Amino acid sequence: MTCEETLILDGAAKSKEIYKEIKTEVEKLNKEEEVVPRLSIIFVGDNPASASYIKLQQKVCTKVGIDSKVVNLPKNISQEGLLAELDKINNDDSINGILIQLPLPAHIDDDKIIRKINPSKDLDSFHPYNIGELVIGGDAYIPCTPEGVMALLDKYKIGVKGKDVTIIGHSNIVGKPMALLLLNRNATVSVCHIDTKDTAKYTKKSDIVIVAAGVPNLITADMIKEGAVVIDVGINEVDGKIVGDVDFENVKKKAAAITPVPGGAGPMTIAMLLKDTVKSCKNMLNK
Ligand code: NAD
Repeated sequence: MTCEETLILDGAAKSKEIYKEIKTEVEKLNKEEEVVPRLSIIFVGDNPASASYIKLQQKVCTKVGIDSKVVNLPKNISQEGLLAELDKINNDDSINGILIQLPLPAHIDDDKIIRKINPSKDLDSFHPYNIGELVIGGDAYIPCTPEGVMALLDKYKIGVKGKDVTIIGHSNIVGKPMALLLLNRNATVSVCHIDTKDTAKYTKKSDIVIVAAGVPNLITADMIKEGAVVIDVGINEVDGKIVGDVDFENVKKKAAAITPVPGGAGPMTIAMLLKDTVKSCKNMLNK
């Protein structure tokens, strides 16, 4: 396998295709139902990285016709104050989707907040109801990043049934739901994490490797099987540049397909967020 033959999984291009489809659906909802899908983003404090990510989300929402509103709350807001704000949004019938920008300040109990989100507006699938539905393969919200990875594999017609897949990272928002999505499609899944004794033992035998650890250069060429598919979810800043968790240049020489960072898994996450907002809008109309 030479570098020229490696397929670059272009999440930026594929997400634009999805934006177009969503824009058409939104226009249909505007015309036929006289509704505008609405997203509410709860942002506590002023973390600059979160602020710029939210700006990006809003920009894309505007492009496809979704109305997004940021509820920016002071970082010293009390737990009760935040729960009260969340309750207002939970009960506002004009809002279809809720995102809670993490991390929340240390004095807030994330678990209490997550359990309070209205599950039918829980686009990040934080609520145990949605994660439970995912376990049994039901039709609930799926966390946007693993949902985006599946959508990217589907766009490139990379099947997962019967494949050996290793996921590196076992967070509730990426690694665990990724494993469930793959299991629901009959992949054979290994999940590695910080305490895994020998991550390479798993990655070396895998047809697909998905890494979401937040560690630059964690996955090197010697850890990858010739012809594997490598999906890099990691986002790290190194010397002012955004990089993933994979040694891209060297792994690319061995892989059959690989995602770049940026421009791979990241844009697909935002595309899924838009898709799920529209899905929620339609669900609410059908009630
Ligand atoms: P997290 O910190 O919650 O979890 C990190 C996971 O990686 C844990 O399971 C940990 O055990 C594992 N890990 C850490 N170091 C490891 C090592 N040396 N070997 C094996 N496993 C190791 O992070 P997260 O929220 O799941 O995010 C992971 C990465 O994905 C971050 O870089 C984050 O920025 C990125 N991310 C990207 C998107 C996107 O849209 N592309 C979305 C969410 C997260």
